[in-house]
Amino acid sequence: MTDRPLPQPGRPLDLLRWQVEMGADEAVLERPVDRYAAAKAAQPAAPAPKPAVAPRPAPEPTPHRLNEARSPAVAGPAALAAGARELAEAATTLAELEDALHAFDGCALKHTATNLVFADGNPESGVMLVGEAPGADEDRQGLPFVGVSGQLLDRMLAAIGLGREDGRRSRFYITNILFWRPPGNRQPTAGEVAACQPFTERHIALARPRLLISVGGSAAKALLGRAEGVTKLRGRWFDYTGPGVERPIPTTAIFHPAYLLRSPARKREAWRDLLAIKARLEAGP
Ligand code: URA
Repeated sequence: MTDRPLPQPGRPLDLLRWQVEMGADEAVLERPVDRYAAAKAAQPAAPAPKPAVAPRPAPEPTPHRLNEARSPAVAGPAALAAGARELAEAATTLAELEDALHAFDGCALKHTATNLVFADGNPESGVMLVGEAPGADEDRQGLPFVGVSGQLLDRMLAAIGLGREDGRRSRFYITNILFWRPPGNRQPTAGEVAACQPFTERHIALARPRLLISVGGSAAKALLGRAEGVTKLRGRWFDYTGPGVERPIPTTAIFHPAYLLRSPARKREAWRDLLAIKARLEAGP
């Protein structure tokens, strides 16, 4: 992404296209703000736009021997991974895990995102879905799967009795393997997935679902550590094991709803997968 040359001055359309590719795909203010000029004039910067959903406030920074390892600027990948794991594993509740993510500085996506997107739904429902990464709507609202593809997923799940109601009434719990939006909705990098992985593993260990469903290929790869794409993994059951998980969790993969929107012919297979999930839930633990 950073390899792209800057567009020539005087070609506004090229400049606009370049900005979209860099992830600046939303106008926050009506007029552009020249922050260099503002800094020169020593004027206070314009106030940041208010997010639709107030993210949990970041906890007070606490002395921590791995504080440095949380920052990619000063730590190598191994120290970063160790710092992330220690931070994630110290969380004993989902709220603490969300706070830990607020404190975590090891994923650069945090600095381009508007909100941390942690989870939605009912962690006690026994059904946990894990998608790829927040998009623009999710980033704005601080909630996973609230955009167009999320609405399709809601309809699919409602068709097998898994309604997405408010909070504890929801019949499922949902999150992503990345907690911040990649700019311009680009594919997450392996480094970004690895940086968030200890938090995803802790998330699963704390939520203790009866069934785990990966939504799309990236999530399936991260959860199951398998090389096959979702076309090969869907319709099959695997055992998820991870740190802090006492018993293997039955896990399957479904097509990502964004893919189904582009390829409606695959909906027939998606429906079969949903029926298999329903049967598994009805069969009991
Ligand atoms: N796609 C995802 O994988 N996750 C979201 O939260 C939204 C779209």
